[in-house]
Amino acid sequence: MARRRHQLCAVRGCGTAVEAWQHLCGRCWRLLPADQRAAIVAARQERAFHIVSRLAIRAADWLNAHSPQAEAARRQGEA
Ligand SMILES: [Zn+2]
Repeated sequence: MARRRHQLCAVRGCGTAVEAWQHLCGRCWRLLPADQRAAIVAARQERAFHIVSRLAIRAADWLNAHSPQAEAARRQGEA
């Protein structure tokens, strides 16, 4: 498999390509609760990227439990 500069959105069933520094695509980002988005934005502004990564993983976990795409993936038995 060829190496790509992009990675896929961390949310299960989404499959949208995002830049390497991003964890979530814009669509999944907008599904996040405002407090989670605010925490990630604040950590990014402080250049605390280890915290950004941890928050993004938690955000993806949340979306995997709540997003419509993840719901569809679960129904299809991919989860
Ligand atoms: Zn996504």
